[in-house]
Amino acid sequence: MSLEFVPDRVFYEPDALNYPLGKTLVERFQKMGMSVSPTTTHNRITGIPGDTPSAAYREAKRTLVIGVRRSKTFQSCKPSAHYQLPLVTSCPGMCEYCYLATTLGKKPYVRVYVNLEEILGITSNLIQERLPEITQFEGAATSDPIPVERYTGALKQAIEFFGREQNGRFRFVTKYTDVESLLKVRHEGHTRFRFSLNCAEVVQKYEHGTPSPEERIIAAGKVLMAEYPLGFIIAPIFRFDGWQEAYRRLLEGTAEELAKRAPSGWSSERLSLEFISHRFTAKAKTNILQVFPNTSLPMEEDERKFKYGQFGYGKYVYQPEEMKEMKEFFQEKAKEYFPLAQVEYFI
Ligand code: SF4
Repeated sequence: MSLEFVPDRVFYEPDALNYPLGKTLVERFQKMGMSVSPTTTHNRITGIPGDTPSAAYREAKRTLVIGVRRSKTFQSCKPSAHYQLPLVTSCPGMCEYCYLATTLGKKPYVRVYVNLEEILGITSNLIQERLPEITQFEGAATSDPIPVERYTGALKQAIEFFGREQNGRFRFVTKYTDVESLLKVRHEGHTRFRFSLNCAEVVQKYEHGTPSPEERIIAAGKVLMAEYPLGFIIAPIFRFDGWQEAYRRLLEGTAEELAKRAPSGWSSERLSLEFISHRFTAKAKTNILQVFPNTSLPMEEDERKFKYGQFGYGKYVYQPEEMKEMKEFFQEKAKEYFPLAQVEYFI
């Protein structure tokens, strides 16, 4: 199955036509013979087919909306950055556990924003406000931005922008491998390119429509050759029978593959690692059960600890003693397989 994202239908806000990228995209999709229709707002799309929640979810993932981002502020983005950088919302992947199930609901259609100059203008102001501190921006807080990059070039533009910024840093994470267009961009080491990985057991069960971890590691090798600071996010981490061995194999395999593909003399010194344990909100659980009625995702509230999150959503995380065990395990394995890497956090 090709993982290249080609939408089945496209919507656009008429205002998007006032921007060169919006005009180009609308014309491009019209020429491709697609259904391209205007919509009054990118925040609410009617006209996505599907008789059941799971059919509507699949159709939403094949729907692209071309919009203008009007808000003059960015949301905060702990723990990975100071702010979100909104370039894209959602992605065509269909991971059952997707963290966007809480905020995007049952029809997570893919949105791109065409007023990139304005978005980067806000970015610039936020960097100024925090001088002389360096301000970090996360480009994947509400999306996987790679699948639509072939249409918008938004990441490329953002990476070039941060390449020119002395006091701003950019980071994003992806499961996708279509990275060629970003390899020659002048990043000046100001963008951290991260890949999301999980053990084979989790990928096979829950990560539908995404490249295999092996393919992601090959893409990571290309990113290293392009001298980007590289990172891996291991997420979401599940406990199941044999979880330690499954994740040990993942880290061992990643270290071996990377050693084969990295430039000679590479060490894990500039590598960052982030570890995120599985968590879910009540809202996500309701949405996931409708969209994936046969899911085997572990979502038993009784087995978890309830915790208030950054945006006021309570979430169910593993029990404190389980978290402690997982944290110690990953810290130890990170040291074993990537001795010089920076472990940014385990949550
Ligand atoms: S790739 Fe990331 S954003 Fe896309 S469905 Fe999977 S978890 Fe969600």
